[in-house]
Amino acid sequence: MEYLNIQQFHHKKLVYVSPHHDDMVLSSGGLIGEISTICESLVLINVFTKSLWAPGIIGEVKCEKVETVRTCEDRFYCEKYGIEQMNLGFRDSSVRGYDADSELAAEVCNDKIYHDVLKCLRKLIKSMQYDFIFCPVGVGNHIDHKIVLEALRGMEPGKILFYEDLPYAVKYNELEIYKSIKGDLGELKEYFIDITRVFDKKIEDILLYQSQLESDLLLNIRKCAERFKGDAFMERIWVFK
Ligand SMILES: [Zn+2]
Repeated sequence: MEYLNIQQFHHKKLVYVSPHHDDMVLSSGGLIGEISTICESLVLINVFTKSLWAPGIIGEVKCEKVETVRTCEDRFYCEKYGIEQMNLGFRDSSVRGYDADSELAAEVCNDKIYHDVLKCLRKLIKSMQYDFIFCPVGVGNHIDHKIVLEALRGMEPGKILFYEDLPYAVKYNELEIYKSIKGDLGELKEYFIDITRVFDKKIEDILLYQSQLESDLLLNIRKCAERFKGDAFMERIWVFK
């Protein structure tokens, strides 16, 4: 088991691309807690910020309301860690007509929004200065995550790090995860981050996203963290070899 060298982010400019408002805290909350204090800057780009997905909201769920609530929850988290938040305003899968099954089965090339997202993301990132960029690796096949991955996969290989999409990974065994990543991106090298020390803090931070707290979310995040080593909690990052 090889660990990610956290010190490589010392005084570096980092960009984290998150399909939805909560992907950063769910997938990398432990890592972010560690690196946000040592990096020079950390910009979070939330791509699909118009949403109808809010199991924690009581009453009628409307897109404007959900977007406002989710943006506020995320802003609170970002302010806590000195992260600059950017919201691109694209409609997420729940607004584009997908349901819980079809959003995991759809193909990027058949989604009309793909080219607009690709153009916007590439233009934005080209205008930014950064040393490392974090991108979802696409475990779970969520259409919004796959669109972001497709848009970013051609970035400079030495600068891109792929984070494991959580809690989606809980549904797969290691062989399935390796196979799906290899099929999409070729041979990647995996690195682990020991988040045992900060795991309670990660859970506390996830609780800031009250609108997203569906049943089993915290349990699944815990299962994801403990599946590698019985006595420690982990997150995982992949890089090009
Ligand atoms: Zn997501």
